[in-house]
Amino acid sequence: MSPTPARITAVDTHDIRFPTSRELDGSDAMNPDPDYSAAYVVLRTDAADGHEGHGFAFTIGRGNDVQVAAIDALRGHLLGRSVDDLCADPSTLNRDLIGDSQLRWLGPEKGVMHMAIGAVVNAVWDLAAKRAGLPLWRLLAEAEPEWLVRQIDFRYLTDALTPEEALTLLRQGGQGAEERTARLLERGYPAYTTSPGWLGYDDDKLTRLAAQAVADGFRQIKLKVGADLDDDIRRCRVARSVIGPDLRMAVDANQRWDVDEAIRWTKALAEFDPYWIEEPTSPDDILGHAAVRRAVAPVKVATGEHVQNRIVFKQLLQAGALDVVQIDAARVGGVPENLAILLLAAKFGVPVCPHAGGVGLCELVQHLSMFDYVALSGTTEDRVIEYVDHLHDHFLDPVVIREGHYTAPTAPGFSAAMRPESLARYTYPGGEFWAADLDERKKGQSA
Ligand SMILES: [Mg+2]
Repeated sequence: MSPTPARITAVDTHDIRFPTSRELDGSDAMNPDPDYSAAYVVLRTDAADGHEGHGFAFTIGRGNDVQVAAIDALRGHLLGRSVDDLCADPSTLNRDLIGDSQLRWLGPEKGVMHMAIGAVVNAVWDLAAKRAGLPLWRLLAEAEPEWLVRQIDFRYLTDALTPEEALTLLRQGGQGAEERTARLLERGYPAYTTSPGWLGYDDDKLTRLAAQAVADGFRQIKLKVGADLDDDIRRCRVARSVIGPDLRMAVDANQRWDVDEAIRWTKALAEFDPYWIEEPTSPDDILGHAAVRRAVAPVKVATGEHVQNRIVFKQLLQAGALDVVQIDAARVGGVPENLAILLLAAKFGVPVCPHAGGVGLCELVQHLSMFDYVALSGTTEDRVIEYVDHLHDHFLDPVVIREGHYTAPTAPGFSAAMRPESLARYTYPGGEFWAADLDERKKGQSA
C-alpha cells in the first residue's frame, strides 16, 4: 500500500512588530515613525521530512493586523493541497489565489490582498526550495527555462514580453551560469547601504555611519531627502564630504513630491552628484516619472518598492520612465511575479537594484538578484542590492555582508524563517515585549 500523499495541514499566521520607531531607524520624509512589522505565515504539512514553508508581508506597524487577516482569507486555497504537486508546480496555486473571483474584487493584483498572496506564494517557494535541498536562488538558476516560464503569469504582459521571448532570454542568460555561480559563491553580490541616511539621524550620526560605510567596503550609500530642502543640502554636503567624490550617493524621497517639485528639488541637489533619485513621486504616476526622468538627467530615476504589480512595471519601462528597477520581494505576488519583472527589465535593458531593509527583505530579495546574475542578466554591473543593518538577528539564516557584498546563501530555502523566540517576544499585542510595554503605558497613565 502506498503511503498517503503529504498535504498542507495548517496555515499559521502571526502579527509581528518591532518597536523601531523609538530610535528613528527607518525614518524618511513620508514615514517618520515606522515600527517595522511582518504579517508572517507558516505552512505546515504532514510530510515525514518536517519541512515548513515560511513567508511574510512587510508593513510598518498599524495595519499589520489587516495584512494578517488578508493572509487568513487565503487559507481555504491551501489546506489539503498535495505538497508534492504544489512544489512540482507552484503556478497552480498562483492561478487559484489571483483568480479567486470574490477576493479579486479587493484588487485586482494590488494592495493588501496581493501582498497576502505574495506572502503565501513565497512561503510555497521556501518550502519547495527546502524540499529540493537548495537555496532558492539556486533552485531558480538551475531550473529548466521551460518550467520557469510556465510559472509566470503573462496575462497583460504580452504586448511587451511574450513567453517565447522570455524563454529566449533565459536560454541566452543561462549560458556561462556555472562560472558565474562559482564567482558568486566566492565574492558575493554587491550591496549598498541606507543605514547612514535616515532622516531622523543628526549630522554626527550621519557622519559616523557614512565613514563606517566606506570602511566596510560599500561603494554606494543612500540618503533620505524630501522634508526640508535646506536640511537636505546640508546633509548631502556632509555625506559627500565624508565619502569623497568616487562613491555613489543615491537619494530617496519616498514619494514626497509632486512632479514639478521633484524636478526642482532634485536639481537643487545636483551639485552633490546624486546617482539616482528614488521614488520622486507617486508610485502610480508613470507619466510623472517619465517627466522627472527627462528633466533631471543625468541623475537617474529609480522606483519600484511600492509598484503594485508587473503591469505597472511594464508601463514604467514602456514609457521610458525609469533608469533603475527596484523590485521588492514582499510587495507583489511573490517569486513568479518578480521573475516576470526581472524578465521585463532584462528585455528593456534596465538594471535591477532591489529594495530591501525592513524586516527580512534583505534575506528574501538577495535570492532574486543572485538568480538574475547567474541565469538571466549575467552581470552585476550597475547593480546593487539595498542593505540596512536592522533586525537580521531575528532570522534563522540571516544575510551575511562581507566587504560590501551579500554572501550567497547556502542553506536550503528562501531565508524567510524567523527565530521562534523572536516570534514569541514580538507578537502584537500579546508577546512579552508588547505586553510589558502596554503595562508601562498603563502605569504612566495612572501615575
Ligand atoms: Mg526607498
